[in-house]
Amino acid sequence: MNTAIHLQWANQVERETISKLYSLDAMGVLDNELVDEVACAILARAESIIKVTKAHGENILDCPSCSHTIQGDGKIFECECGWNITRAELHRTYKGKQLVGGAAMPIIEKAVKSFPTKGRYADKMLWIDNLIHAFHGELNAQYEKTELAYRPIARNFIAGSLEQVVGLIFNLAYGDNPNLIKSRAEWIDKLKISYVPDHITDKYT
Ligand SMILES: [Zn+2]
Repeated sequence: MNTAIHLQWANQVERETISKLYSLDAMGVLDNELVDEVACAILARAESIIKVTKAHGENILDCPSCSHTIQGDGKIFECECGWNITRAELHRTYKGKQLVGGAAMPIIEKAVKSFPTKGRYADKMLWIDNLIHAFHGELNAQYEKTELAYRPIARNFIAGSLEQVVGLIFNLAYGDNPNLIKSRAEWIDKLKISYVPDHITDKYT
């Protein structure tokens, strides 16, 4: 690999940060800085997921050196500018990092397009909440209990094991915002038909 420029993927958001945002929101404290921090971190993560998923599934990668779109041949990605990376090297940059979107892609792409850049606090909070409560395969109606379809998208965006992330969403404080309360109730219904209850504990069923 050309060592001058490395590929960098956005990290998942820490559970404590999400928790703090929801707790403050539930108390009626609208923290503009914090909502921006979380929304931007989720957006950056979404953009990384889109890039990794394209490279992983279609052999298409944006060159980190010159932004040119590279079509790989399955073994190596070679850019006109001289930058290159083998597929194996590339794989090591995202392996085990929850960056391959699979059945979640329609929702993640839709979220990136609908990001409320100039939105107010409430718009950003709703944007975050929609992603936290979404499931892989939801738009494609892939309701099979498999690991690829119908698992919580939050796992791609929030650090921690499946159990920790699901536990976090259960324990988030919800104030009297009817939109957030509704999305949580719907999330619990979807969680019950997802693959999650079979794979963690029975306390969420
Ligand atoms: Zn290039």
